[in-house]
Amino acid sequence: MEMTESRADTVFRLLHKHYGTVKPGLEYSDIYQLTIAVVLSAQTTDKQVNKITPVLFSKYPDFCSLQSADITEIEGIVKSTGFFRTKASNIVRLARCICLDYDGKVPDKIEELIKLPGVGRKSANVILAQGHNIPGLAVDTHVKRLSQRLGLSTGKEPDKIEKDLKNIYSEKLWSEVHLLLIHHGRNKCHARKPECITCPVRDLCNSPDKNF
Ligand code: SF4
Repeated sequence: MEMTESRADTVFRLLHKHYGTVKPGLEYSDIYQLTIAVVLSAQTTDKQVNKITPVLFSKYPDFCSLQSADITEIEGIVKSTGFFRTKASNIVRLARCICLDYDGKVPDKIEELIKLPGVGRKSANVILAQGHNIPGLAVDTHVKRLSQRLGLSTGKEPDKIEKDLKNIYSEKLWSEVHLLLIHHGRNKCHARKPECITCPVRDLCNSPDKNF
């Protein structure tokens, strides 16, 4: 246990030293925009979402305007993010649900968030951490791959990895750990051909994918 904790702390310190404070990839200015952007980011890149959200948010600036939007128009706006029919339906239903059931306010409990259309555990953690400032640690494909490569978790499923990471890091670091691991995954520790030679945590990495 002691070994795992110390490895985890070193990973955090080295990644933070190398990348500094990492900003979220999605652009938003309030919790409404964050929630919608997170739902749209499924199966695509943050960059792709950032391209279409200014149009969406200028036409529909809050949940109440979005809940009564014309679905065909929303489909047209979100088309380039993929799975556009599902996503358009999800965000309109989600807006309706927040307006009707939560008085226009995004819930701050994970159990309630995961019941909203298009919101899974990963998205719920992002909304908690970045929207409500409540500690959350979302496990996406990057966090999963890096946790395994760096020996932070032996879990195969996101729920188990989330539990392991939450055990080894203190609550106040959860959001930053999430952002740092994603950033490292996008920039160096790619699924294929990771750039190990310049990796700040290479001395801690025992992954079979390490390539030097
Ligand atoms: S050494 Fe390579 S595989 Fe290991 S964490 Fe760094 S980039 Fe990823």
